[in-house]
Parts: sequence; C-alpha cells; structure tokens
Amino acid sequence: MKRKLALLTLAGALSVPMVAAEFITIGTGSVTGTYYPTGGAICQMVNKNKKETNIRCSVESTGGSVYNVNTIKAGELDFGISQSDTAYQAFKGEGKFQGAAAVPELRSAIAIYPELLALVVSQKSGIKSITDLKGKKINLDSPGSGTHMTADLVFEAFGIKASDLALANELKVSEGPTMLQDNHIDGYFFVAGHPTANIKDAANSVDISIVPIDGPQIDVLLKKYPYYAKGIISGSYYKGVPNDVPSIGVKAVLVTSTKVKDEVVYQVVKTILDNFEKFKELHPSYKTITKESLLEGLSIPQHPGAIRAFKEAGILK
Ligand code: GLU
Repeated sequence: MKRKLALLTLAGALSVPMVAAEFITIGTGSVTGTYYPTGGAICQMVNKNKKETNIRCSVESTGGSVYNVNTIKAGELDFGISQSDTAYQAFKGEGKFQGAAAVPELRSAIAIYPELLALVVSQKSGIKSITDLKGKKINLDSPGSGTHMTADLVFEAFGIKASDLALANELKVSEGPTMLQDNHIDGYFFVAGHPTANIKDAANSVDISIVPIDGPQIDVLLKKYPYYAKGIISGSYYKGVPNDVPSIGVKAVLVTSTKVKDEVVYQVVKTILDNFEKFKELHPSYKTITKESLLEGLSIPQHPGAIRAFKEAGILK
C-alpha cells in the first residue's frame, strides 16, 4: 500500500500518465521467422517501462499476417505484425478480406523494416525461375500467412494455378527447411526480413538456391499493386546463395485497431522511438531503417496514438 502510494506520488511528480494496468499482446509469426524476434524486441523495451506506463507486453507466435489482422478484428490481439500488402487489402476489403471479412478498424503504428519474397528451392530441383514451378512440389505457407497471399498474387501474375503444381502444400513455413531436407518438397515461399533463421536453417542442411522474382510479369504486377516494390536479397546472407537475388517486397508493419487506446499505442511507439538506436542493433533486418523510414510504406491510416508519438519526436510535422 505504502509502495503504491509512493509510486503514485512519484508518478504525479514526474507527471507520468498512470493508466490502469494494460496487458497487450503482439501477434507475430513462426519462431524461426523475423516477426517473432521483432515482437520480442518491442515487448522487451515496453516492459522495461512498465512501472511508469503500467503496460505489460507479451508476444504470441502465430501463422503470420492474415491471422494477426483477423485476430485483431476479433479483439483477441491488440497489436500484430503484418505485411503492408495484407494490411492494405484487409483495410480496403479486397482479396480474401471482401465483405464482412474487411477490417476497416485496422490502423498502422510503424512500418518497421522491409520484407522480401524468397522462393527457397533445393539446387537439385533445377528450379531457376517461377515458370519452372509447374509439376513441382511447393509449400505456400499456411492460409493465415501473408506469404501465401503474396505467393498467390505472383502465381496470378505468371498465370500459374495451384493445380499446375505436383503438390501445393499449405503447411507452416517453419516446416519448410525440414520438408526440403526430407525431399517432401522442391521449394517453399517465405516473405520475411532477411537474413532470417528459417532460411539459414535450410541453407545449412540442404544445398539451396533462391529463385529470382523478376521479368515482365512482375512489372505488370507492380503496376497493378503499387504497394509492392523491387528489392534485392543480398548474396551475403545465405550459404549457397553467393549472388544478390532480385525480388519484390513489402514492409513489415506494426498494426493495431481503432479500439486500442491512444495512450497505449502512444506509449508503445514512443518506447520504440526513444530506444531506436538500441532497437536497430537487435536484428540484421533493421540495418537500413531510420526513424523517418518507419513512416514509409504504412499502407493504411496511422493510429492517433502513433501520430502523437511521431509528432512529439519531431519526425512528423
Ligand atoms: N511475412 C510473413 C507472413 O506474414 C511472416 C514473416 C516472419 O515471420 O518474419 O506470413
């Protein structure tokens, strides 16, 4: 009781807003991906301030973007990490989010880092381009992933149907490296921040290649869906992949809902901005990010709490 009083007095003296205890959960992806350690890094920073903010953060490993966005809609997650293409379609009610599945209450907080589509194949599969996929065994990731959604659009651009494949698996991307090693598949898709532990695991157990995602079909796709951008998966990241690989990418966006309090979103974003230099060191995917780039590629409107934090930090005018 005494301690509580002392804390309250201290909070008053420092004019720290005391909100009632808030327990927030961030939906991420599989544990060997990049979302999971990113959610962990954010929660760790948020929890360091829990005495002042009364916000306690925990991370959940999930199937990925589509699951996260749908679960935010259901009110069971407060935050999630989502590909910017998934967030855009959910907000607008396009693709698999049509009609009642739309998530107009979805809001962005920050656009954390770039993600690039990797088509990881075994060298012995002989797959050198997307057009070689016909008759091959490919894992597309689970239907709750953003990866599956992006892979579907790439297939559409190349006029490939799932039925053109010998096997179109929809298992979690975490199974990809083992399935490749056991010859159950010839390759798998993963949209991630690179380098990611999942693909390192695959590269360390099988001779892999990463297939270039380019050509006139991709130029058409980029015109149709302007939230994709060209990018390069560096030749320095994975064993067996010595050259840069062209691909397309999105942003990994921290998303939330209009139903989450301004003060909570404000504190989470403020914590990231206040500890930005330390945050940047936590994963190689953050190498090129800047405080300004956190506002690039948000793809959906920003939550008012996030806007307040960026304005206070002088990044948003
Ligand atoms: N972008 C992936 C997805 O939404 C997840 C990436 C990750 O786990 O790092 O399916």
